[in-house]
Amino acid sequence: MIEFDEVTKEYRRGSVAVEAFSLEIPSHRTVALLGSSGSGKTTLLRMVNRMVEPTSGRVLIDGEDVRARDAVELRRSIGYVLQAGGLLPHRTVIDNVATVLRLGGMTRKPARLRAAELMDRVGLESSLARRYPAELSGGQQQRVGVARALAPDPNILLMDEPFGAVDPIVRRDLQDELLRLQAELGKTIVFVTHDVDEAFRLGDEVVVLRGHGVVAQRGTPAEILAAPADDFVADFIGANRAERSLSTVDIGGRSIAVDGNGRPVGVMQK
Ligand code: ADP
Ligand code: MG
Repeated sequence: MIEFDEVTKEYRRGSVAVEAFSLEIPSHRTVALLGSSGSGKTTLLRMVNRMVEPTSGRVLIDGEDVRARDAVELRRSIGYVLQAGGLLPHRTVIDNVATVLRLGGMTRKPARLRAAELMDRVGLESSLARRYPAELSGGQQQRVGVARALAPDPNILLMDEPFGAVDPIVRRDLQDELLRLQAELGKTIVFVTHDVDEAFRLGDEVVVLRGHGVVAQRGTPAEILAAPADDFVADFIGANRAERSLSTVDIGGRSIAVDGNGRPVGVMQK
């Protein structure tokens, strides 16, 4: 379990990024932190692996203050996936995944074997192993990022808008893949996004943030959709709802329902 206990972060005096944020994240669940840009999502995520230290308050993992842990060891024990992938450009795909394992003390051969297994697990063909990151599509790069984060078999996976830079259809594939992986692996996932659809699709629970990491509402997607806590939440989820609303187009004399991304979702009955 991850617990935020009244954490506040002031990067500079008088400029509060996160104010008195408290949240318990149960193990083996996916919690989506949903908020617009600047609401403090990245700050919160990075406090879990000590890339950001709180100004006050504590973050606990299984009851232990993360400050009691060695920062490097802590960071290595937690998977972290970034929007840009954060891959090493001068290393091949397989080495990008294997490097994490080598750092953890594994020798070259078993590290490569495990890296190949991880590539397979996230849906990457083995023929891509020798390529460099720049020779992959955005979606493939994000899969490598996920494989790398999973390499040390962490209990916790932090994901910071990991699918934000890919087009909507690839994004949907990556979300499906994550749902499938999570059903198999049961990690504790903290997933940060500003995309309402994505949060509702992936989160067992969603935490809607207003500015400064203030929780506007927390609940299952169904709970939040059924009863937004206030106008802020209603507006926030409603604004994006218009985008994903269905419309119809006529193709070959048939009326086809399409979603907000123009993807066909069904044929209308006449
Ligand atoms: P989000 O990820 O939701 O976009 P961030 O956590 O990145 O939000 O940022 C929250 C606030 O903290 C913003 O106002 C941002 O400008 C500020 N901030 C983030 N990182 C730093 C930093 N390293 N130094 C100073 N201010 C920062
Ligand atoms: Mg951010």
